[in-house]
Amino acid sequence: MMGNPAKGTLYVVSTPMGNLEDITLRAIRTLKEVDLIAAEDTRHTRVLLDRYNIKKRLVSFYSYNKLRRKDEIINSLKDGKDVALVSDAGTPGISDPGFVLIRGVIEENIALTPIPGPAALITALTISGKPTCKFVFEGFLSNKASKRRRRLEYLKSEERTIVIYESCHRITKLLGDIKDIMGDREIAVARELTKKFEEIKRNKVSAIFEHFSNTKPRGEFVVII
Ligand code: SAM
Repeated sequence: MMGNPAKGTLYVVSTPMGNLEDITLRAIRTLKEVDLIAAEDTRHTRVLLDRYNIKKRLVSFYSYNKLRRKDEIINSLKDGKDVALVSDAGTPGISDPGFVLIRGVIEENIALTPIPGPAALITALTISGKPTCKFVFEGFLSNKASKRRRRLEYLKSEERTIVIYESCHRITKLLGDIKDIMGDREIAVARELTKKFEEIKRNKVSAIFEHFSNTKPRGEFVVII
């Protein structure tokens, strides 16, 4: 593989958010060629690897072991091994533990190569109908109500399109806070992108809030304001 001959290369490989066909030829080749794959959830990634008949050693790299595992993976890279980093969904490093490893690799002056592909924020933004020439990505807002509401107060006067990640557990609370603090704006909510129950709602916050108050929210969400 390409890269620093003394040390290995960390390949930051984007993988599908749901539909297993959303993977590039280069991502498949890279996953086949590296020595090791660091994955947020090894069982989840195994499904993808099985689909493409990739038999490769997997190590887990997730929120609770990321600091210890970061050092182990960096040592493998220093030993000349090539490593692929994948997340549960989309692009590693975007609102997931991958960021810690990417920073560590940069600090150690180890080669880093992105293998681009899907990311939920861009996928949601493109079909939101909101202006895409300027936008801000807020990732997950705090799960503490006071902090989340303070952030929404701050964002109230933002002129650019705002993209927020949320899980099914807190989406109704988030929509309620947006309605109270930012007003009853026209927003877009993308749910389960590329999956069987993909759904995109474009409506006033109050209408979408009411919908998810009456129908139990399931899956993964991106909110675009
Ligand atoms: N690294 C990922 C990316 O490239 O978008 C994001 C990882 S973050 C831990 C997970 C969040 O991404 C979810 O809570 C949700 O907000 C968003 N997300 C991931 N997959 C999604 C999907 N299929 N549909 C909608 N949102 C999704």
